[in-house]
Amino acid sequence: MSIRELDEKYVAGTYKRFPVEIVSGHGSVVTDACGREYIDMGSGIGVTSFGVADSEWVAAVTAQLGRVQHMSNLYYTEPCAELARRLCEHTGMKKVFFGNSGAEANECAIKVARKYAAARRGEDCYTVVTLKNSFHGRTLTTLAATGQDAFHKLYRPLTPGFVSVEPGNMDELCALSESVKIAGIMIECVQGEGGVVALDADYIRAVADFAAKNDIVLAVDEVQTGNGRTGELYSYMHYGIEPDVVTTAKGLGGGLPIGACIMGERVADVLSYGDHGSTFGGNPAACAGAISILDRVNGELLADVRRKGEYIKAELSGAAGVESVTGLGLMIGIKTVRPAADVVADCIKNGVLCLTAKEKVRLLPALNIPDEILRRAVAVIKTACAG
Ligand SMILES: *Cc1c(COP(=O)(O)O)cnc(C)c1O
Repeated sequence: MSIRELDEKYVAGTYKRFPVEIVSGHGSVVTDACGREYIDMGSGIGVTSFGVADSEWVAAVTAQLGRVQHMSNLYYTEPCAELARRLCEHTGMKKVFFGNSGAEANECAIKVARKYAAARRGEDCYTVVTLKNSFHGRTLTTLAATGQDAFHKLYRPLTPGFVSVEPGNMDELCALSESVKIAGIMIECVQGEGGVVALDADYIRAVADFAAKNDIVLAVDEVQTGNGRTGELYSYMHYGIEPDVVTTAKGLGGGLPIGACIMGERVADVLSYGDHGSTFGGNPAACAGAISILDRVNGELLADVRRKGEYIKAELSGAAGVESVTGLGLMIGIKTVRPAADVVADCIKNGVLCLTAKEKVRLLPALNIPDEILRRAVAVIKTACAG
């Protein structure tokens, strides 16, 4: 049986795969089983921040694998502590809980908001408000947080205590707070799965003010936007707000599973002994890889991410078959005249791997994609958009 046949026979059919089997890669170029090369404009959905099999990341991870690949959280390990220190120093926040995915990071944020609110405002204060068109994960609780009904329908009843409001509408949020006690608000500054939609800056600041004034925990979901993707280390940094909780995953690990729930001053001591846990959380190999990623997301790299994002926008805005280009940094959504799936299929035929998000083509290339490779990919995408 071919790999494709094996996969179709034995792997749960939750994914629609393209007829491409990737066997290796280097940086932003990956190779399939037939030896054909592709430019990777998706980075495993924003995970391989410095590309595939990046040598610095591989060295950091393999060095740690040769020392200790896993210990239980009953003992100290250096990569976990060092990564937590970096996340706090870079954000000005105070404590980190490590899990293994974006959904788990968000579950932790929700637990923090609920525990904090229950202690201060009573056990009937548990509602977490999220935004319509958001995406926060696939567990039953993070699905409840996700403001898109399409994801809900098969799995009701979902975890209670979630309400989603229209992004941009402060009146709706204020009115809601008259009828329910709000424990937390969770937002993505740029809605990724929702179609790469950057929220209005004034709205983001108004939500942050509202949360601070009402003792509501503000959590920013930086699972996709984090770790340099938007041209700042975390996307909230574009807006001058100070969230109580920042969750991140995807690009933090550079390719190994990791999720982090970073807690600011106000909620730093909410979680105490026995309140939460994870067998793999803080895994030393995953943390060693993440340290190597964070140490490279410096001012120079971030400026480069912004420059490359502007280049993509300038090339595609107003191009034939392109209705609009949205996003921040190297997180880009392209609304195309042709169906996005057709554009992506044409790109694959011409050696470029792209993603979609709702009705858009989505690009999340490696943060260090070389200019020359980016230029070639954009040319292919442009042709595919024109049809
Ligand atoms: C991908 C994503 C998640 C879920 O992350 P998993 O690692 O798949 O659990 C949550 N929030 C946002 C914004 C995401 O993009």
